[in-house]
Amino acid sequence: MTDLEANFNVSDTTEAIIASSKRVTPESTDEIRLILLRIDAPAFYFLEGQTIGVLTPGPHAFGNPTHHRFYTIANARKSADGEGVELELLVRRCFYIDEVSGEEYPGEASHYLCNAQLGDKITITGPHRSPFRIPADKTSNLLMLGTGTGIAPFRAFLRRIYDEQGGWEGKVRLFYGARNGTEMLYMNDLNQDLTNYYDQATFSAIQALSAGVLKDAGDALHSGIEDHAAEIWKLVQDPKTHVYLAGMKKIAAAFDASMAKTAGSEAEWASVKSAMIEAKRWSELTYH
Ligand SMILES: Cc1cc2nc3c(=O)[nH]c(=O)nc-3n(C[C@H](O)[C@H](O)[C@H](O)COP(=O)(O)OP(=O)(O)OC[C@H]3O[C@@H](n4cnc5c(N)ncnc54)[C@H](O)[C@@H]3O)c2cc1C
Repeated sequence: MTDLEANFNVSDTTEAIIASSKRVTPESTDEIRLILLRIDAPAFYFLEGQTIGVLTPGPHAFGNPTHHRFYTIANARKSADGEGVELELLVRRCFYIDEVSGEEYPGEASHYLCNAQLGDKITITGPHRSPFRIPADKTSNLLMLGTGTGIAPFRAFLRRIYDEQGGWEGKVRLFYGARNGTEMLYMNDLNQDLTNYYDQATFSAIQALSAGVLKDAGDALHSGIEDHAAEIWKLVQDPKTHVYLAGMKKIAAAFDASMAKTAGSEAEWASVKSAMIEAKRWSELTYH
């Protein structure tokens, strides 16, 4: 939970209906579901990279008045006007261990969403402002690095630039880390939908798998970055490159470490990174 999630103004809400829910990871691994929400409110409008909040019905633990959690929109808006708006969410069923009792408890919002049935009504907030925006200039390079459900905004970006807009000229590079092949969301046996973009001349996806049982998706991504550090270093020095980091918090530190090593010093990397931040070409959406 972030301070933002805990202290958010939750008075402005919209009703959404569960239109479908499908598991995109096999039974042998953590459950992640692709959940389609339909919104009939005519004024509802979103941009790729934005998040919505989900309010779960009470009563809540510890007498909290609300339980509000963020989920990133995983699809692109449709260019043509249609009836209502559809939102896709990629939700991991979360558990947490109570530090005092050591017992495992279900995460409230993620279980609520993963258990929701077709036709159920969900109360959402937002869409909320996001650091993730697709640049207007189609010659921009997009360097996207993520783990787990952090793939959600990148899926929305790819749908927008290739399916809805078309004509993207800049390089698009996706680095995605997972513990194993079955956790490669959208690129595993159950779901292949990012492979649709493999024939786009500007797109390339690098899938990094963890080499050891004790390593997680963040470690896998770190190895993938190390393996392609020279190419990434070249890309980040191009003033047309925008960097996006999504998913586990630790990937930002891993990226910094790899780039400092490739740049030759931490100071050299810090200066390239601060120029990107200054030019609004650096964004992070990391949460666990
Ligand atoms: C910007 C943003 C975007 C996000 N996008 C996505 C997304 O696309 N997909 C996705 O699956 N998730 C996403 N998340 C994470 C999501 O918002 C939730 O944090 C996650 O689903 C867990 O919420 P929950 O209500 O299920 O769990 P909670 O009930 O909130 O429990 C989860 C955490 O709360 C803490 N906690 C709560 N109660 C206790 C307790 N009694 N004792 C100890 N610890 C406790 C623990 O730290 C635990 O790990 C995003 C988060 C942010 C900030």
